[in-house]
Amino acid sequence: MDFESYNPPSTLITSQHIVTKAKYPFIDIHNHQWNMGSKDLEELTSVMDTVNMAVMINLSGGSGESLKKSVENIKTTAPRRFVIFANINFEKIGEKDWTANAVKQLEEDVKNGAGGLKIFKSLGFSVKDTDGKRVTIDDVRLDAIWHKCGQLNIPVLIHTADPKPFWQTMDANNERWLELATRPNRKRSGTDPAPWQTLIDEQHRMFKKHPETKFINAHFGWYANDLATLGKLLDEMPNVYTEFGAIIAELGRQPRAAKAFFEKYQNRILFGKDSWVPEEYTTYFRVLETADDYFPYHKKYHAFWAMYGLDLPDSVLKKIYYKNALKLLPGIDKSLFPAN
Ligand SMILES: [Zn+2]
Repeated sequence: MDFESYNPPSTLITSQHIVTKAKYPFIDIHNHQWNMGSKDLEELTSVMDTVNMAVMINLSGGSGESLKKSVENIKTTAPRRFVIFANINFEKIGEKDWTANAVKQLEEDVKNGAGGLKIFKSLGFSVKDTDGKRVTIDDVRLDAIWHKCGQLNIPVLIHTADPKPFWQTMDANNERWLELATRPNRKRSGTDPAPWQTLIDEQHRMFKKHPETKFINAHFGWYANDLATLGKLLDEMPNVYTEFGAIIAELGRQPRAAKAFFEKYQNRILFGKDSWVPEEYTTYFRVLETADDYFPYHKKYHAFWAMYGLDLPDSVLKKIYYKNALKLLPGIDKSLFPAN
């Protein structure tokens, strides 16, 4: 028998609380939907209702005409249930007017209804300028974009790099061995494209250079396995927020430390999940809301370990589920949520 097939059902008998619907209506700050301009949004909202998702933030908004079309579809079929984030087209960065044009496009996208800006991990990984050089996250040619987001008071959700084990030797000591074995294109190295720490440092320098802009560092900034460091970073950078998309398994394996972290940083954490697999939300709710012991996670390549509930108090849950997001996105209809 091999590692992948060894997955015995637990013999532990203890109280269980399967949570299929969040305790409070929530805002998912990290979601991706495509063809939003022509999608049947009534069907989508009916699935959102089954998990108590009041508002979905679609980070794959694109820009220009397609973004406009998405916003129009939302307005006519599900006006209160979605927010679209715009994206930047990095092609031809290095040409003389690239920055000015990108800023102009962003302003137009916000005028057309975008509620924020999403930066994909391609920045830092694959985006190259017209000279063929990797564009760093703190490249000065992007400064005007971050500055404009601050002026427009829209948040920037940014995903930089990937889990650190993707850079480590793929052997018996690598916690993401199974993921790298089944998805070999996720393997990185110090030169492909750069060391993990280099990318992370570029991102932090950029955050610090733009204190007037609010950033949401996706996936706990890949520090969910090192909450003391993440806490220090949040202390140093009051303009930075974070969300736990795809890293809930890190929190579920350290319930005491994670609970203390959520209590201390309750104003800085947002609910995010990333991939749209509705039946997986139950793991998130169970980790956040219950005091359950030793229950399974849904993806062995993320976590071969079991989860424990954080048992967060209602006051913290409400902030994570909707209050913090409402502060960052004041355009969302508050009547969808409890008054206090
Ligand atoms: Zn994402």
